Amino acid sequence: MNNKVIWNDIDFVLLDMDGTLLDKYFDDYFWEEFVPEQYAALKNIPVDEAKATLYAGYKQQVGKLAWTDIHYWSDRWGLDIPMLKESVADRVAVHEGVFPFLEFLKTENKTVALLTNAHMRSVDIKLSRVPLRPFFHHIISANSVGSPKEDVGFWEVAQEQIGFDKTRSLFVDDNETILLRAQQFGIKNLIFKTYASSQVTRDPSKQFVSIHNFSEITPVYA
Ligand SMILES: [Mg+2]
Repeated sequence: MNNKVIWNDIDFVLLDMDGTLLDKYFDDYFWEEFVPEQYAALKNIPVDEAKATLYAGYKQQVGKLAWTDIHYWSDRWGLDIPMLKESVADRVAVHEGVFPFLEFLKTENKTVALLTNAHMRSVDIKLSRVPLRPFFHHIISANSVGSPKEDVGFWEVAQEQIGFDKTRSLFVDDNETILLRAQQFGIKNLIFKTYASSQVTRDPSKQFVSIHNFSEITPVYA
C-alpha cells in the first residue's frame, strides 16, 4: 500500500463506469465491431464499408452529448441500439479489484457516486448484469444532466445533487480530458485509471496519479 490516496481526507468517492469499473472492451467491441456488422447487414454492404461510415460518424460526436445518447445513434443508423446492447450484455465485465474496493468504501462509510457519460438506459442494461448498484448512493448520467463530463455544467449539477465537498472528494476516471475538467472545477483528488480495456495497454498519465488496479488504493487490514 502506498499513499496515492490519504483516505482520512476523503468523504466522497466519485467513480466513472465504463473503463474505470467496467472493462471498456465491451464498449469497444460493441461500437467498433458489433454495430458495424449489424449496419452492414441492414444496408447490405461490406463490413469494412460499414465501419468506415460509422467510425466517421462517431468521430464527429466524441466528447459531445450525442456521443452518449443511444437514441441518437438508433436514429442515425436505423438500428435499435438498446436492443442490440441487451443482446450482447452477457459480455459486460467488472475489472478485477473493483468489488474489494467498493466493499472498503462501504465499510468506511464514504459517500459513493457513479458519474457517467453513459445514457441511463445503458447504465440500467449494464447494472442489471453486474451487481454494482447497491454500492452507489448516487448515479448521475450525463444525458440526464444535459452536459457530458467534459463540460463544467455537468460538474455544477453533480455537486448540487450530491452535495460533495470538492476538497474532500476523490474522482477516478479513465479519460484524462474529463479529469482535467474535474480539476478545473476544483476536485482535489484525481486518479487516472490506466487499465480501461483488457485488450489495450496504456501508459500511466503524465499529469495525474495513475492506477492499474483498484487494489493499489484499497487498504488491506491486518
Ligand atoms: Mg470511462
